[in-house]
Amino acid sequence: MPANEMKRIYLSPPHMSGKERFYIDEAFQTNWIAPLGPHIDAFEKELANYAGTADAVAVSSGTAAIHLALQLLGAGRGDTVFCSSFTFVASSNPIRYCGAEPVFIDSEPETWNMSPEALGRALMAAAREDKLPKAVIAVHLYGQVAKMDEINAVCQQYEVPVVEDAAESLGSTYKGKQSGGFGKFGIFSFNGNKIITTSGGGMLVSNDTELLTKARFLATQARDLAPHYQHSSMGYNYRMSNVLAGVGRAQLEVLDERVAARRAVFDNYEQAFASRRGISFMPELSGTRSNRWLTALTIDEQETGVTIPVLLEALADANIEARPLWKPLHMQPLFEGTRFYSHEEGEPFCERLFRSGICLPSGSSMTAADQVRVIDCMNSTFDKLAGRSAQTA
Ligand SMILES: *Cc1c(COP(=O)(O)O)cnc(C)c1O
Repeated sequence: MPANEMKRIYLSPPHMSGKERFYIDEAFQTNWIAPLGPHIDAFEKELANYAGTADAVAVSSGTAAIHLALQLLGAGRGDTVFCSSFTFVASSNPIRYCGAEPVFIDSEPETWNMSPEALGRALMAAAREDKLPKAVIAVHLYGQVAKMDEINAVCQQYEVPVVEDAAESLGSTYKGKQSGGFGKFGIFSFNGNKIITTSGGGMLVSNDTELLTKARFLATQARDLAPHYQHSSMGYNYRMSNVLAGVGRAQLEVLDERVAARRAVFDNYEQAFASRRGISFMPELSGTRSNRWLTALTIDEQETGVTIPVLLEALADANIEARPLWKPLHMQPLFEGTRFYSHEEGEPFCERLFRSGICLPSGSSMTAADQVRVIDCMNSTFDKLAGRSAQTA
């Protein structure tokens, strides 16, 4: 069968447990369709319990959760918010929603996440200008938790609150503790491509229950306590629906299995290419355990003779979805002219990752045969371009 007629292998498709329908049916039978309801309350409690935070607020997206966090930290016109550069645009768009400006921070080699050194320099410069940021958004990319002890230490020195963008790291741990609970706020996403999904949704977590009460208020149109719809602040329509929270509850029940499955996919790829020179998999910082949301690796063009565009094309021809790593935000036209702090002199580390990196299909429902297809396609591309024909190899 020609490759393009074979079943498409997706990067990270939704993976239902089967129990979602039970919770959805319950919502229908009790007519808790309209926005809030018992599944919301239960999902919030269950997630806060999992993440090890005092409470959680279920919202319509991870992006909305970041927006609420920044709003509650007082980000507004004329302010700055520091953010990882190596991330998806949703990490920093909410900075602009608030009217503030992002300042981007480079990654470091051990986690591929925010460099505490670059952050330290950025904070020192901001303190000198008497213009400290309203928050620092530290992202845990592809499931790897950033160096939170170092990031928290330098932020505490300047008394700047940390927001953890844990959209991709639900189920990952740092020194035995779940991601999301290390800063003032943590946010999770249940978008369709994430490790668990509600088809669309997010969660704001914190140990500050007073702030979360304010978040609930802002997320439900900021209605004052009056029967006649009185408003003294501007709110949003950001709450998750009770039906989708039911999906989330069923998904959360199998999260640990999903983490195990994604880690097995990563290990399988890593073993398959262990003997090939020039291929480096995303590291796992000692003391951390990544959920391996996406298997990410870099390819040395010199050593392999293969470029990322060539590899992406070969995979696309085989009906396999793969992606380059996130394009750093300081390189995006949208953020042209924003400030950026590099980890070291020379080429910023995140630019190097972008130039040489790729994400492979990593879904928890991937079969062994699917994984063989991806590995075979990559091997034949490497063999072809390394000058060795398939026959002689
Ligand atoms: C997915 C994602 C978000 C946004 O979450 P949504 O639920 O899609 O709004 C934010 N940050 C990162 C790093 C993400 O991967």
